[in-house]
Amino acid sequence: MKFISTKNKNIRYSLSEAIYMGLANDGGLFIPEYFPIIDLSSFSEDLSYPDFAAKTLEIFFKNDNLAASLPDICATAFTFPIPIQQLDEKTFFLELFHGPTLSFKDVGARFLAGSLNKIANGKKITILVATSGDTGSAVASAFYKKTNINVCILYPKGQISVRQEQQITCWGKNILALAVQGSFDDCQQLVKSAFTDSLWQKQFRLSSANSINIGRLLPQTTYYAFISLQFYRQHGIKPGFIIPTGNLGNATAAYYAKALGFPINEIILATNTNKVLSDYLQTGNYIPRKSVSTLANAMDVGNPNNFARLKELYPHFTDFKKNVRSISVSDNDIKSTIINVYRRYKKMICPHTATAFYVKDKLADNPWIVVGTAHPCKFETIIEPLINASISIPEQLQTLLIKSNQIVEIDNNLQTLKNTLIRMMPS
Ligand SMILES: *Cc1c(COP(=O)(O)O)cnc(C)c1O
Repeated sequence: MKFISTKNKNIRYSLSEAIYMGLANDGGLFIPEYFPIIDLSSFSEDLSYPDFAAKTLEIFFKNDNLAASLPDICATAFTFPIPIQQLDEKTFFLELFHGPTLSFKDVGARFLAGSLNKIANGKKITILVATSGDTGSAVASAFYKKTNINVCILYPKGQISVRQEQQITCWGKNILALAVQGSFDDCQQLVKSAFTDSLWQKQFRLSSANSINIGRLLPQTTYYAFISLQFYRQHGIKPGFIIPTGNLGNATAAYYAKALGFPINEIILATNTNKVLSDYLQTGNYIPRKSVSTLANAMDVGNPNNFARLKELYPHFTDFKKNVRSISVSDNDIKSTIINVYRRYKKMICPHTATAFYVKDKLADNPWIVVGTAHPCKFETIIEPLINASISIPEQLQTLLIKSNQIVEIDNNLQTLKNTLIRMMPS
């Protein structure tokens, strides 16, 4: 299997190259050359999650240098449970937040860390990543003490929760966290500018860990593959998924699983009031915006960076409209949903997950799997006053919260970023 850029189909890259480069030289995103239909009967029912994942991803790794390491990368990355619960007759809840930093981003980050560690092959790589919250902690945790990799995390100052910030800034060693005076989109723009500058490339051997990296996207297909097949075998029906969506990384992975032939019915994208996608579906014009702040802050994205990948799957607007549905959810509805879900199911849910639960009630009465993207304890200041109960903190987060941290602020400026990297990164 080879990978191509969304902007140029003629140059073919190996998977290792695509993972290392993050973004193609022409600024496009790497996508698989094609999606083969996988023979589902070849997945025996007793496969462990890591084995199932390795088998799902095999085709993408075929003939790549990483192929032989794939089972090992999966076994090292997927060490935590991905439980699904039935809440009522037609409502199922998939909890993707039991990894080390309690969001679904652990899945992709840990897989990518394992892959890049192999790809580095003894020479130092620098990861530059922008985060609106959970990416930063997931990446920091996944790459911490990987000796051939330095990580610089950019986050918008004052726009992530105190606990999120603690989880990004508590590491030290090969992890440098920078609070940028700007928005998440500014952080993302800094990363993009650095990436299109060849001097940066040479000096730092830059690689990305954002959801633009195909090495984060591919592993996320495995939980949709695993859960949909398990569901289909148990219930004889293809489930639909409702996915809290920002940069479209998690959601695109679901479409990839569907493209591979896994038994998935509709996929519904729940967004906060950053609704560039709903607007596109209505008008056919894709108009990126400045992001606005909402309670579901990891989804505050005005220009979803995986949009080009989704567009590649459904190039014609009519096709796109047939397959993609998006519903935008206000902060008020997020709040009332947090309360309702707690009353109805005794479940505490984070504001991101709440967008998906809200959307569920607007849909046909089919079986739906609502995707939970972060543990509620990461957003306790929002949730606790609403439900009048306190959220207990899992052990893995307790450990991070008591570590000392270091906060470094920088201007929204590429040269400042460079100087700071040179000054503060371990050589
Ligand atoms: C990142 C994140 C999202 C959005 O995921 P995308 O892949 O960017 O669409 C949703 N919820 C939480 C908790 C997140 O951290």
